[in-house]
Amino acid sequence: MPNLEFTTDIQYLKGVGPRRGEVLIAHGIDTVGRLLYYFPRKYIDRSQLAPIASLQENDYKTVVGKVLGKGLLKGGRTRLEVIIGDESGHLSLMWFAGYRFFEKQFKKGDEIAVTGTVTYFNGYQMLHPEFEFIGDDADDQIHTGRIVPIYPMTAELNKVGLTSRSMRKLIKTALVAMEGRLSEYLPEEIIDAEKLSQLPEAVYNIHYPADADSAERARRRLAFDELLFVQFLLQQRKLKYKTQEKPHVCHRPGKMFTDVLDQLPFKLTEGQQKSLSQIIDDMTSKQPMNRLLQGDVGSGKTVVAILAAVLTAENGGQAAMMVPTEILAEQHYANWREPLEKAGLITGLLIGSIKGKERKEILTRLESGEINIIFGTHAVISKTVLFADLRLVVIDEQHRFGVMQRSRLAAKGEFPDRLVMTATPIPRTLALTLYGDLDISTIPDMPPGRKPVKTVWRFSSTLGDIYKFVDEEVGKGNQAFIIFPLVEKSEKMDLQAAEDGYQELTEKILPHRKIGLVHGRIKADQRDKVIRTFHDGKLDILVATTVIEVGIDIPRAGILLIQHAERFGLSQLHQMRGRVGRGERQGLAVAVAYHPVSEIGRRRLEYFASTTDGFKIAEADLELRGPGEFFGTRQHGLPEFRLANPITDQEILVSASVWAEKLYKKYADNRQELGFLLNHAAVFSTLRIDLMDVA
Ligand code: ADP
Ligand code: MG
Repeated sequence: MPNLEFTTDIQYLKGVGPRRGEVLIAHGIDTVGRLLYYFPRKYIDRSQLAPIASLQENDYKTVVGKVLGKGLLKGGRTRLEVIIGDESGHLSLMWFAGYRFFEKQFKKGDEIAVTGTVTYFNGYQMLHPEFEFIGDDADDQIHTGRIVPIYPMTAELNKVGLTSRSMRKLIKTALVAMEGRLSEYLPEEIIDAEKLSQLPEAVYNIHYPADADSAERARRRLAFDELLFVQFLLQQRKLKYKTQEKPHVCHRPGKMFTDVLDQLPFKLTEGQQKSLSQIIDDMTSKQPMNRLLQGDVGSGKTVVAILAAVLTAENGGQAAMMVPTEILAEQHYANWREPLEKAGLITGLLIGSIKGKERKEILTRLESGEINIIFGTHAVISKTVLFADLRLVVIDEQHRFGVMQRSRLAAKGEFPDRLVMTATPIPRTLALTLYGDLDISTIPDMPPGRKPVKTVWRFSSTLGDIYKFVDEEVGKGNQAFIIFPLVEKSEKMDLQAAEDGYQELTEKILPHRKIGLVHGRIKADQRDKVIRTFHDGKLDILVATTVIEVGIDIPRAGILLIQHAERFGLSQLHQMRGRVGRGERQGLAVAVAYHPVSEIGRRRLEYFASTTDGFKIAEADLELRGPGEFFGTRQHGLPEFRLANPITDQEILVSASVWAEKLYKKYADNRQELGFLLNHAAVFSTLRIDLMDVA
């Protein structure tokens, strides 16, 4: 093939063409280089496989075999049986759920790797095993090497004939065509000191490692690149914000502040007090505040932010508090409007569903400076919103916003103080290295009298009993949330599942109970009405998608039932759990899992049930990410690393951080060299980071 480069359009690669090209581009693979950076999700090591004949009951193993036959078995519950075999014997694979879907996947002669627990029922079998297609074509060298890379796949890729197997072929083509064209960009001294693989070698070996060791060496090198890039950005950002002076500096708290404080129906906890005084120190100093406030769900971050906003207003500036959902914005507004007004402050609410005249009026009052404190969703960062004098920006549940959205709100003022809040904290060393540009306050304690939520997880086969229990509890005046997952990628299906679940509950399972439904597609005013009705105790059960994950406060609700808990990340589960047990009642969370549940999924659920400590959960969440799963990092507002795991790779993270600082100093006067490094780090790290934020 003629002259392929890292930047050559993907459709010029042999075997791609326009149709596949389009789909690949939609997956972020727009160049030959990006294809090389489409990394395997895992490897299957053929030398470690168990022969089928060696399987014993209760083994959790991976075997590889050819599909010998398949069929739907009727009589009792309909199920799909697929028989596979290797030289040593046969194994039966069974699917009870989704059998129609799975049936279409298998063809006689396909070679597949299956992983699961072995059970015995008229012979050895695996129920709902995980499986990977390896190939169907034994004389093809690249598919039958000892270590087989398995690539992340989607239905769209499959539609244009791209399977894990054809992806291997494509990548092999690209690797061969690019041979000798990739070169090292890191200074030799780093490679030596850190004992890193050279870039071309790493890129080759991440796809075609000779053994597990060489795969790990390749991963380590490429993970270093990712982490180094983030550290570069951090160095830049640090320099940018810390050296500024803001035009308005707050005085120490005065009468207005004390008025609001005195109205609170409770005493601040020690953690709240300490965080607040750190915030006041920042606000009364010349540099703009740039602080992260972290504390577990329910630790009381809101009141701290409100007091900061009051201080801003008392000094003549405006404050904006941005939250991820309309429901939450409304709740904050409803809760704080009155006490703030009593202290002489004017508040406002700005969310997407407020339109027309009402919206115009709010915008006018913001621009004139009449409104002191505005609560809102991302509606507050839209272009039409102007502030008279924005001096404090509070971003609640910061991981729910993109980096871009965060900085856009700050751009509406002149170096405003910034406070970002999160209930999914990250461990300290990680915070220092990854949020090195932010100061950090932590609320480690909970308001007095909170009881930890009792948590269990169960398979869906026990749902009947669970609903019976929910019914009994409701009979005693308790209220329950029933949550369905909602993922962007499968949004349509997920919404349908929530609606079907709601219908089944109201018509068949608990027809005598009052049940409401909320999800993102239901109009905001209708949604609010339902939530308010639930809040006032006039509904027994609220069926919801993850819109309720953050923030909202329903003190009477004691039960949380999470459907398809295997699909949620650990931190997300914990956030949801924060919705119950806020009042007097003992909270109870039941996570309901559906087959198939991966090994990591199982560990996640077990961990969820075993602790209610948000800090421990956060750490485990990052550690227990499955390969190719990003939700751990996303939930923490971290960049979406492909290969680096910021918890288990902490050693690499620390050395990347040290090198970034060194290189920054070294090239302080040589912007060209620095630019070269940065550009390459950006290209090779393939992280989705907003360069805008650091520019
Ligand atoms: P989060 O940190 O999850 O945002 P919130 O700010 O929503 O938590 O607070 C949770 C609940 O705890 C609210 O109902 C709030 O009024 C209450 N709360 C906050 N601080 C205290 C305190 N010091 N003592 C008692 N209750 C408090
Ligand atoms: Mg909150």
